[in-house]
Amino acid sequence: MELFKRLLFSLRMSYRYCQDLNKICRTTPNNLKLCDISPKDFQQQGIEVLILDFDGVLASHGDLFPVEELYEWLHNCVKAFGAEQIFILSNKPLAKRITYFEQHYPGIRYIKEVKKKPYPDGLQKIISLTKKPPKSLMLVDDRLLTGSLAACIANVSVTYITKPYTCISKRPIIEMFFMSLRFLERWFVTILAWLYIS
Ligand SMILES: [Mg+2]
Repeated sequence: MELFKRLLFSLRMSYRYCQDLNKICRTTPNNLKLCDISPKDFQQQGIEVLILDFDGVLASHGDLFPVEELYEWLHNCVKAFGAEQIFILSNKPLAKRITYFEQHYPGIRYIKEVKKKPYPDGLQKIISLTKKPPKSLMLVDDRLLTGSLAACIANVSVTYITKPYTCISKRPIIEMFFMSLRFLERWFVTILAWLYIS
């Protein structure tokens, strides 16, 4: 029932924000990975708070820890922003992931016990915790109809990752499912935006 309600909410909101989503889609380069963007790039855009999705952005789907190539990147972010201005907002706040961040990047907060994206609750919680203007928050997410949509609703900046981490050999069915979903949601947004203006 909860999944059905979330799906209906996603459909309603994706129509309302289809132009914004389409713009995100059209203006994001192909093959964009998190480590392609330096903390300074974010700061130059006026970003003060960084919010990272986990699956696809920090690791392949279902993994418990970030990929090794991001260790230094995360430390550089902590130096640039301060750990208290970095958050993890995933629809899967697994205990092992939370413990990992507590041990390796103390101060980075993992948001839990909020309604899943695309509900904007997690982002609104971060806005109230940091007391920063919404546009100075940046959500980095690999999904249009969950993370990016939540960012549009909460009026938070978004970076759409178009080259998410995947490991097809480890979880072929799940990875293929999410690859198809990412492809379909791009088409869905393009069609909605076209319907919206015509
Ligand atoms: Mg993701």
